Amino acid sequence: MPSKITAEQRKAIIENDKAYDGQFFYGVKTTKIFCRPSCKSRVPNFDNVTIFRKMEDALQAGYRPCKRCKSGGANLPDEEWVLQAEAYMKENYARSLTLSELAEAVHGSPYHLHRVFRRLKGITPLAYLQQIRMQKAKDYLIETPLSVKEIASLVGISNPARFTTVFKEKNHLTPRQFRMNYGEKVSTMKNKQTETIYYGKLEHNGWSFYLAATDKGLCYVGSQNNAFDEIENWTSKKRKDAMLVQDEEKISLYKEQLISYLDSERTALDLPIDLNGTAFQESVWKELQNIPYGETVSYMDIAEKIGKPKAVRAVGAAIGANPVMILVPCHRVLAKDGKLTGFRGGIPMKEALLALESKK
Ligand SMILES: [Zn+2]
Repeated sequence: MPSKITAEQRKAIIENDKAYDGQFFYGVKTTKIFCRPSCKSRVPNFDNVTIFRKMEDALQAGYRPCKRCKSGGANLPDEEWVLQAEAYMKENYARSLTLSELAEAVHGSPYHLHRVFRRLKGITPLAYLQQIRMQKAKDYLIETPLSVKEIASLVGISNPARFTTVFKEKNHLTPRQFRMNYGEKVSTMKNKQTETIYYGKLEHNGWSFYLAATDKGLCYVGSQNNAFDEIENWTSKKRKDAMLVQDEEKISLYKEQLISYLDSERTALDLPIDLNGTAFQESVWKELQNIPYGETVSYMDIAEKIGKPKAVRAVGAAIGANPVMILVPCHRVLAKDGKLTGFRGGIPMKEALLALESKK
């Protein structure tokens, strides 16, 4: 079980005190890497630190071992290290990111990371980052009406002219030309595809709600005690062409983790989700996932975090439209006065989830 950090542990981490190795490990939420107290990595922001007594606990909570202090025991294989770097870039492509920052985040030297990454992937880390950005930019151009300037900033390139240059280099079309050529076509193609949505029911200790998933991940969490109609209605509105198929097997993985969360055995859920929202909704839902277990924030906090302090109302609507409750923890958002306001799953469900998280 993870626990809160003590002053003694904090001191051990700051001083890289070897005497504490083996007594505890610390995981950093922003990088999802866990270290020994003696690790020479940069001192973390302690707000993001979780303490684990055993390595297994950290692994179970979804943290990965550190290359530098070998917190996972043996030497971390290069393949695994490269995966860490990839995951970090996929999470952080939306802001400007240097090779040094990336190397620091995955606990290695920039030179070493560059070399190992290129050897395994055939491409440098920064070129890989650029690829992620261009892929995201294409998605935005096709699927949203956002301006080129907005898209540039959403993919971590603050200078729109630079964005256009890079885009054109890779795609031989400017962003505008690309949108004209592919925007329409791809979106009609998409709608024609029949997608399967698998659903099943979670029943455990008084909890009872439906779950639905596509091949990409969990796409819907139903409300406590609600009938099947809820999923059916949602599908007919939001995933018009999808086919609903009952398949308890397909959703058993989701069930298992959710049950251990509901039993307070797990505070972090590590499951794929398929949100399928607008770019704005997804930015809100992504921010919700940064609210730590057991903590609450206000609607205003979220609006500020996504850089749209004036859009509180739109943020509220996006939160209300969150299809994947619990994993996207919208129950952790309260009105400014701390009141429990609207929750798609019903106020009693929100209350129960908050009570569950405050037990620790
Ligand atoms: Zn380390």
